Amino acid sequence: MELIINGLSKTYGSGVKALDNVTLTIPTGMFGLLGPNGAGKSTLMRILATLQEADAGTVQLGDLDVLNDKEGVRKVLGYLPQEFGVYPRVSAYQMLDHIALLKGVVNGGERKALVEALLQKVNLWEHRKRRIAGFSGGMKQRFGIAQSLIGEPKLIIVDEPTAGLDPGERNRFYNLLTEIGENVVVILSTHIVQDVQELCSNMAIINKGKLLYAGSPNNALRGIDGRVWEKSITKAELERYATSHRLISNKLVAGRPVIHVLGDQLPEEGFVRTEPTLEDVFFSTITADTTANTVRA
Ligand code: ADP
Repeated sequence: MELIINGLSKTYGSGVKALDNVTLTIPTGMFGLLGPNGAGKSTLMRILATLQEADAGTVQLGDLDVLNDKEGVRKVLGYLPQEFGVYPRVSAYQMLDHIALLKGVVNGGERKALVEALLQKVNLWEHRKRRIAGFSGGMKQRFGIAQSLIGEPKLIIVDEPTAGLDPGERNRFYNLLTEIGENVVVILSTHIVQDVQELCSNMAIINKGKLLYAGSPNNALRGIDGRVWEKSITKAELERYATSHRLISNKLVAGRPVIHVLGDQLPEEGFVRTEPTLEDVFFSTITADTTANTVRA
């Protein structure tokens, strides 16, 4: 089964074009939707999760017309939003039991077995009697995964899941996500390149509502192979390089900026060719888009 998005657009009342004619096919497995803040990721996730209306376009999940059959979608959807908003003062066990009931697991014995299995799966069994409001960020996210798995979903949407998690929590969350079945479409929306690098076999990059890349991370890396150059510079030189070269990233290493620039030839003395990373792909795609916009304007 695939999720087929065709010509999807959404403009807010403020005039912001959050999605601009997005056409994208998402296969089963883990799919990374990568974009900077404000790119339109949450708008897309909310439309797919039936929480928001699109202005134009179609979305098909197998036989299901996602934009028109909202009831049908909700039956097969697992959604982990960026923020739950208010965390309930009830225990993890009570909350999962309640959500399972809402999702139609009416048989008490069946529900008990399901809730217990989910709590074990996301490693919250020993905390099952604690109130969710008192959970750490990582525990809340794991609880979020547990509730999104109720009802054997075919489409799982995870919006910015690792923001605010410490490295240990992030790893536990990654491990959990990779256990979700291969036959489910899982969309992971994130601005963190590492999330996509570690988890996703396919990805898309969006910026300002436009789809800029769709394909595998490996193909994206091949696209800039041999064209990424690295140099350690001083802070004072940064502005000069930013204007004279196609700067795609700038990281501090032991207090000194290490820059990556994109180019077909050695940009100048002192640069060395370096293996591209997904971060290089991301920033070169985004900056190409920004440059194109500047030229047009
Ligand atoms: P992302 O999730 O990638 O950060 P969003 O989908 O939240 O992006 O936002 C895309 C654009 O739409 C941004 O410019 C944002 O300010 C704008 N936007 C998002 N939600 C609303 C809203 N409810 N009303 C008006 N503008 C919005």
